[in-house]
This record gives sequence, structure tokens and C-alpha cells, in this order.
Amino acid sequence: MSDPNCLFCKIIKKEIPAKIEFEDENLLAFYDITPQAPTHLLVIPKKHIASLDKAESSDKALIGELLLRVSEIAKSLGLDKEGFRVVNNAGALGGQTVFHLHFHLLGGRQMKWPPG
Ligand code: 5GP
Ligand code: ZN
Repeated sequence: MSDPNCLFCKIIKKEIPAKIEFEDENLLAFYDITPQAPTHLLVIPKKHIASLDKAESSDKALIGELLLRVSEIAKSLGLDKEGFRVVNNAGALGGQTVFHLHFHLLGGRQMKWPPG
């Protein structure tokens, strides 16, 4: 459930401080330390899942809950008014640097496509 060497597991256990926006039994949402937009949060499951491709069918409800929570947080911060972006980086070519599943929630500026 928890990996003692994982940065985000340490944030969940409050061993490393973070600015928390939302927390419940299964999920945590906190602000990215290096924001890439005026609003930039990370929404994560408390269960240690290394990346999206490591999620299993038993995680179905958890992943659904996670994405709906991303939407709820976007709305609670007013990001739905002008739009926002949700990003998951998976693996080396995907640009993943922290190997604990997380969705980036970005808003407050015009996003570009294709992504870098
Ligand atoms: P990835 O590159 O894996 O998709 O995203 C990892 C994210 O975690 C990056 O956007 C990075 O800025 C953020 N991050 C790395 N270390 C910390 C930290 O100690 N605290 C917080 N709040 N964010 C972090
Ligand atoms: Zn972890």
C-alpha cells in the first residue's frame, strides 16, 4: 500500500510538507512544488501505484473516484469556467519523474497542443 522510498507516499504520511487542497480516506490533492500554470495541483491515490499502467482491474473504482475528484476540485477552484487540463505522464518517454500515480490538474492559462 505504501512505499517507504516514495516521495508521494512520504507526502501522504506528512513526512514531507505540501500545500494540501483536498484529502479523504483514499485520495490526496496538493499543489505542485514547481507550478507549470497559475493553478497546478497533483491528485493522487493514497495507495502506492507506481504508474497508470501498473493499475489493475481491482483499482477500477479508485481510478474512477480519482478522476471524478479531479473534476470536483477543478470546479471548486472555478477552473471549469474557462477550462483546464488534466495530464498523466507514464514512464520515461511520457515524462514521468515521480513513480506514484498522479494526475496533474492545470489551469489559469491558455494550454497548447501538441504538448511538449
Ligand atoms: P511527473 O513529472 O512525474 O509527471 O510529475 C511529478 C511532479 O511532482 C512534478 O510536476 C514536480 O514538480 C512535482 N514534485 C516533485 N517533488 C515534489 C515535492 O516535493 N512536492 C510537491 N508538492 N511536488 C513535487
Ligand atoms: Zn508512493
